[in-house]
Amino acid sequence: MADNNFYEPVDGMSMPRFGAMPTFMRLPYVTNFSATDIALCGVPWDGGTTNRAGARHGPREIRNMSSFIRRTHHASGICPYELCNVADVGDASVNPIDVNDTIVRVEDFFAEMHASGAVPLTAGGDHLITLPIMRAIARDEPLGMIHFDAHSDTWDNYFGGARLTHGTPFRRAVEEGLLDPKRTVQIGIRGSVYDLNDMNFAHESGMRVIAIEEYFELGWKRVMREAREIVGGGSVYVSFDVDGLDPVYAPGTGTPEIGGFSTYEAQQMLRATRGLDLVGGDVVEVAPPFDQSGNTALVGATMMFEILCPLAEAVAVRRRDG
Ligand code: MN
Ligand code: MN
Repeated sequence: MADNNFYEPVDGMSMPRFGAMPTFMRLPYVTNFSATDIALCGVPWDGGTTNRAGARHGPREIRNMSSFIRRTHHASGICPYELCNVADVGDASVNPIDVNDTIVRVEDFFAEMHASGAVPLTAGGDHLITLPIMRAIARDEPLGMIHFDAHSDTWDNYFGGARLTHGTPFRRAVEEGLLDPKRTVQIGIRGSVYDLNDMNFAHESGMRVIAIEEYFELGWKRVMREAREIVGGGSVYVSFDVDGLDPVYAPGTGTPEIGGFSTYEAQQMLRATRGLDLVGGDVVEVAPPFDQSGNTALVGATMMFEILCPLAEAVAVRRRDG
C-alpha cells in the first residue's frame, strides 16, 4: 500500500489483532533511534508518585491494548505510517529504587533519541518522567505545552524537600528554562488542595490554567482555540495525564479526581492540536493495578494514537520545509 520504506503495523488481515508480539501499535521493535522519525517508547517508573503507585506497569499494558488500534484515523483520515517512520523503540531504563539515578538514565535515553533526530511519544510511568524528557529535548529553546491533567504538577517539593516527584515536574521545567510558562496551557485542573496558595506558581509564572469549572463553561472548542493561540507557532509538547479524564473513563490511575472531562472530549481536544509544530508527547499515569477492566490502558493507547496522528503530520511538514 505505501510507496515508501516506512515501518508498518502488522497487517490485521494476515495476523489478527489479538495475535503476535504486543509492541506499540503493532509496529516493529527497533533499537536504532536513527532509523525512526517518531519513537514510541515507555518509561516504566512510578517512584515519583505521592499516593497510589502502579504506573510502572503502564507501558506493558498500553502496548498490549494498543493492539486494538488500526492503522488509519477514522475522523482525520491521517495514517501516520504513510507520513513518516514510526517504531517501538522499547523502554528507557529506570532504577526502581533511586529517583536520582532514574532521572539521569531517562534523560540519557531521550538525549540519544533527540540527537538522532527522532521525536518521542512516550507511555508512562508517572508524570515525573516528563522532566527528564524535556531536559533532553528542550536544551536549545523552551517548549510550549498543552497539558491535560487534574493537577497542575507545579509544586515546589513534598515531605519537606523532595523536589523530584510527579507533582513537581513543570515547576522544575520552568526553573530550568525548558518550558515557557507563557506558552503553557493546563486543562482540567481540579480537586481539593492542601492550601489555596497551591496554584500560585502556575499563575504567577504566567501559565494559562483552565480549571475544570471554566473548562465546562467554555466547552472544548473554545478551550482549544485559546490553547492554540497561546502556544502559537513555536514548538509544542503535548502531555496527557489520564487523571485529567473523569475516573469513570480512566479509573486505573494513582490520584483520581472526580468531575473530569470525557474520553470523547479528550479525543476532540487532541485532534485540535493538528497543524501545531508538535515536537513530542506523552500519556502518563496509567496504573494497571487499579485498572480492573483494562479500559484505562485502552484509553492510554488510544490517546497515544490521537497524539501520533497530528505529530506525524508535524514531522512530515518539517521534513518538507527542510
Ligand atoms: Mn500529572
Ligand atoms: Mn494528575
